[in-house]
Amino acid sequence: MRITSWTLTATAVLAALSAGCRTAPVAAGPAASPTSEPAGIDPSLLDRSVSPCDDFYQFACGGWLARYTLPPDKSAYALSFTQIDDRNLEVLRAIAEQDAAGHLDPRDRYPQKVGDFWAACMDEQGVEERGLEDLHQAWAPIDAVADADALGEEIGALHRQGVYPAFRVGSEQDARNATQVIGEIAQGGLSLPDRDYYLKDDPASVAIQQAYRAYLEKMLQLAGEPAAQAGAEAEAIYGLEHTLAEAQWSRVELRDPQRTYNRVDLAGLVRLAPRFPWRRYLRSLGHPGLEAWTVTTPKALEQLDGLIASVPLETWRAYLRWRLLSGMAGERALPRAFTEARFAFLSKTFTGAKELEPRWKHCVRTTEGALGEALGQAFAVRSFGEEGKERSRALVAGIEAAMARDLDAVSWMDAGTRRAARQKLSRVVNKIGYPDRWRDYDALRVDRSSLFQSTLAAEAFEVNRDLDKIGKPLDRSEWLLAPPAVNAYYDPPLNEIVFPAGILQPPFFSVAAPDAVNFGAIGMVMGHELTHGFDDQGRQYDADGNLRDWWSPSSEQEFKRRAACVVDQFDGYTIAGGTKLNGKLTLGENIADLGGVKLALAAYRAAGRGKPPGPEVAGFTPDQAFFLGFAQAWCTASRPERERLLASVDPHSPPRFRVDGPLSNLPAFQEAFSCPAGSKMVRAERCELW
Ligand SMILES: [Zn+2]
Repeated sequence: MRITSWTLTATAVLAALSAGCRTAPVAAGPAASPTSEPAGIDPSLLDRSVSPCDDFYQFACGGWLARYTLPPDKSAYALSFTQIDDRNLEVLRAIAEQDAAGHLDPRDRYPQKVGDFWAACMDEQGVEERGLEDLHQAWAPIDAVADADALGEEIGALHRQGVYPAFRVGSEQDARNATQVIGEIAQGGLSLPDRDYYLKDDPASVAIQQAYRAYLEKMLQLAGEPAAQAGAEAEAIYGLEHTLAEAQWSRVELRDPQRTYNRVDLAGLVRLAPRFPWRRYLRSLGHPGLEAWTVTTPKALEQLDGLIASVPLETWRAYLRWRLLSGMAGERALPRAFTEARFAFLSKTFTGAKELEPRWKHCVRTTEGALGEALGQAFAVRSFGEEGKERSRALVAGIEAAMARDLDAVSWMDAGTRRAARQKLSRVVNKIGYPDRWRDYDALRVDRSSLFQSTLAAEAFEVNRDLDKIGKPLDRSEWLLAPPAVNAYYDPPLNEIVFPAGILQPPFFSVAAPDAVNFGAIGMVMGHELTHGFDDQGRQYDADGNLRDWWSPSSEQEFKRRAACVVDQFDGYTIAGGTKLNGKLTLGENIADLGGVKLALAAYRAAGRGKPPGPEVAGFTPDQAFFLGFAQAWCTASRPERERLLASVDPHSPPRFRVDGPLSNLPAFQEAFSCPAGSKMVRAERCELW
């Protein structure tokens, strides 16, 4: 488990809401694809009533936004991301269906397990008939908890199955000794997406709190509890989660890698929370005696120590039951009434979707969550060849060369810091398409007759695989995303950029598209990930991935001054309904967007040097086409419920500001569209880092 990530789009939050415990790619929905051509600029998306110098996102996407209606089961539709995701879902579905029918492809390594998991998930009637049997069986050990020792053991047993009450546990690269893997204990155990949902008392937050408590009560009743008991338990569970929220750090605080690195041994864990039975917990987790740990939020463990003594066991038991129930309802492993109640709550508070996603789409995602690289290997064989890998490699090389020139040119770094930055850049590892070595699923047992049991088994398999790494040297070949993911990431401790096969497809990347458009779309994504190595978090890690200060005081001061410009810029944006963006929360992503588009443009220009200028695209000059290729890759229709949720939890800015924010700082954009000074897309105070 990685507690933090540096992906292109964050949708882990929504994914965690819609699918129990794992982080999966987000976008949801049917194949109602909008009218866009597979490659190039689509003039039908434009809103020509708006000047590109006033609001470029609106100019690039407004025509489409005005006429597009979201399908009822989607909370958002991103023209590029969702279109590819829908296409990938169809490919994956076909693979899983063939496997389930017994037509096993000899090119695939685990078709039987994929087919069995898929079949268990698609068997809605079977899930209905099993009723509460699996749930009550899984609750039995929780009901038997009679003292603090047994409570710690049961928390360990649940963590072992990927259900996370109280806190989270996983493995992490040691930030101060990057060749080793240690254990990480992070704040967690909440059911709402962020601590602030419990702590804020404005009317909108209070309404969500009330809706959540009513939902909790309803779910407990569905699980067989009498009304009075369900009501009392719901209040007690809410109270405990609220208390946990009070000790947690904000998302902005969690962005500080120095502050969240608190190395302890087992005795150190005991000192933080002496009442918590750590040895029993670790035994029950299946990994006794682990000594190497970091604690992200020490305050949360200190609080847990008090709660072990002060919260009645009855409340702890109810809370553990709820966390398990909630996770399995998200997996749709319980009867339909649970799924419907959950959907009603989430759609009203967070997604705005009008209809539940069809079961097959959900099952593609959960099968991918359980057997990501098994399904991913089959996907890669069919959808992404060696040729795609080579072409993408060449593009990345161009972006890296642009960054090297950029580092040589930036005026504000002194020589020593520049040298260290160049060294770090030269050591960035690229992973493209799919892993060289595929994950081994031999030990995973899939039970075709029970989605509930298969889900827990898959979670346990993944948790065990992850925890097994603790105390051992780092394996640099691992991937955090499966190949079909329509996403990308930079990993600071590994100093690597990763582009799964899923995103290296039209309309992000197409051999049929002009260079200008490819560089604007996928080139910007590559530049974005590379820039993460030098954003407010990434810059704190050195070439080896160690959290080590390689900045001279003067260069650091200048970086911070320039970053503050970006914070101010994005603090100034509001979404519909008046919610303000959080410039500090989104700082790293905004720096990456700003650097990404600049590097992609530089790489595009370098690729065209010495050649005749590229052709006009749909009546636009090559430079204009580059910016339109970038902007149209981000055209996104979204429901207000989802926009509000993401504004409070997502480190990425909404698409409109991911386009307008960087471009209004960029003279090359202003020249391309001849924007006069004073236009909205020409900021008086330009922010510039890379
Ligand atoms: Zn990013």
